[in-house]
Amino acid sequence: NDFKELALHPMILENVVRMKYKEPTPIQQHATPLLFAGYDILACAQTGSGKTAAFLTPILSKLLSKLSKTTSQNQPGATRTRATPLALIILPTRELGIQIRLRPVVIYGGAEMKSQKEQLARGCDILIATPGRLIDAIERGLVSLAKVKYAVLDEADCILDMGFEPSIRQIMTASDMPKDESLQIALFSATFPSSVQVLARDFLKDNYIRIR
Ligand code: AMP
Repeated sequence: NDFKELALHPMILENVVRMKYKEPTPIQQHATPLLFAGYDILACAQTGSGKTAAFLTPILSKLLSKLSKTTSQNQPGATRTRATPLALIILPTRELGIQIRLRPVVIYGGAEMKSQKEQLARGCDILIATPGRLIDAIERGLVSLAKVKYAVLDEADCILDMGFEPSIRQIMTASDMPKDESLQIALFSATFPSSVQVLARDFLKDNYIRIR
């Protein structure tokens, strides 16, 4: 039970050490290797379980390994028409801070669009968004989902409770969202009402792994 066994990118391991995490939590022990291996997962995890790091550490590790081979297209100043995130993290409410050299942008409702629009225009590797604001940004042409490799639905039960199921379906079936095997999806939820199970059945690959 050591972070070194999780094969994280050195830069991520450095951040784990900086955060003074001594050993992976159970959800990290189970979910992280599966996400590394490319599986879609449906994971049961409460807030406080370490679920955020469970999905961020493998996704960021994989993105960093890829970025070191190619140059990021998401550098500020590059010519582009819209943000093309490689990872999309959808959560019910505003939260999260990442200290990493991949460029994150956070967008959420209830705040002015102007500054979020400016941030999107600078490009990003990781887009963290609440569902309604994400749809708004897609419809305004500020975001393209065409390059998304990893999608995380965090607190799926909470997202559905808030009435965002149509929004999630709209995002997942957006015309430019990749629909092939290359898209890896992780769904985290504290509870498993049938609505969450139906969502998993509809959008995760058939061989998805459920972690209790
Ligand atoms: P979360 O469940 O993702 O909301 O995380 C809850 C808290 O646990 C956060 O403050 C994390 O920084 C912390 N955390 C995550 N993983 C670990 C770990 N392996 N050891 C100690 N703390 C952790």
